[in-house]
Amino acid sequence: MAPLFKAVYVDPSLAGSPAIERIREGVGDCLWQVCADFDAVIHEKTSYEADPCAAGKRILMIRPFQGRLVKACPGTANHICCGYQIINVMTNCPMDCSYCILQGYLNNPCVTVYPDFTRIFHEIEEIIAGQPHRLYRFGTGELGDSLVLDHIVGFAAAAITFFAAGKNAILELKTKSANVEHLLSLDHRGKTVVSWSLNTPRVIEEEEHLAATLHERLAAARRLTEAGYPVGFHFDPLILYPGWEADYQGVVDLLFAHIDPALIRWISLGGLRFPPSLKKVAQRRFPRTGIFTGELVPGADGKLRYLKPLRVELYRKMVSWLRAYDERLFIYLCMERQDVWERVFGSAPAGTAGLNQRFEAHVSRCLREAA
Ligand code: SF4
Repeated sequence: MAPLFKAVYVDPSLAGSPAIERIREGVGDCLWQVCADFDAVIHEKTSYEADPCAAGKRILMIRPFQGRLVKACPGTANHICCGYQIINVMTNCPMDCSYCILQGYLNNPCVTVYPDFTRIFHEIEEIIAGQPHRLYRFGTGELGDSLVLDHIVGFAAAAITFFAAGKNAILELKTKSANVEHLLSLDHRGKTVVSWSLNTPRVIEEEEHLAATLHERLAAARRLTEAGYPVGFHFDPLILYPGWEADYQGVVDLLFAHIDPALIRWISLGGLRFPPSLKKVAQRRFPRTGIFTGELVPGADGKLRYLKPLRVELYRKMVSWLRAYDERLFIYLCMERQDVWERVFGSAPAGTAGLNQRFEAHVSRCLREAA
């Protein structure tokens, strides 16, 4: 198999550490260089390329992170968010989704790992200790994919062990890969939820380049449930196209053909949304994509979304297909407005704090039942 990366650049302060040695072994045969000036490398290796994003995906940088590695998700203005805590262990990923927000968002297009796991766990402990009565959800999949490189980076194994031993926090690992082999034998104690972003075979084929197929994702999820892990699914981004109803209903049917609903901790639904600046970058990189040409209007947070009646119809249908398998599924909307929640579910949580409380109550109940 061809190496994932053309070159790896390592900060001199990290060279020789055990984490770096493991990554070196994992990346295989490629240029390996200690580097004191990352900005110069980013400029030299990506800015003269026709497609700097694609070039960045073939370069791995390993460096210390300036600032806090664990932070509350900033959410989005005037929309209900789920109150997640983001672990910043890695930015960017080698897969290449046409709608990936990171294409227009990161000023460093290279895949970058921040391997200070000890500091990450220390920051998590501080957050938990600040409000010990709460039940926190932490996750790594906001600025990259949690698992696609994890067999090389090795964060999940350390984190799964860390969360298994703690009391009031759980970990979510979100992925579009099927890279789960190295998780199967870990002692997770039900404190780690591995979740997959799901989409229709057509969207996966046309828009989620280099990601695992739907069958591969569901087969990986099944393997983890057999190893006792709870799982989650994110239908995000939901994309409208002629025939979307039959296709998404087909994905729901296939999901429950693989997974017992009782093992699903949560399912999220999120319509396609993106900042206006992404459209130009994505259409230049993926000229055949048609997903940015629908009727999309700016929301209160400035992001473009489908018109509200279309989003409501999309969510209502998804909820009805999902609930037909199990009425009790915990389903939430990602970054949606209060009135959309009301029209889909008949009620809405009291803002981000309210959704967070629903999550805490639900996860606490699941942990009690599993104990
Ligand atoms: S898997 Fe996630 S991080 Fe990777 S390209 Fe796709 S959307 Fe972006």
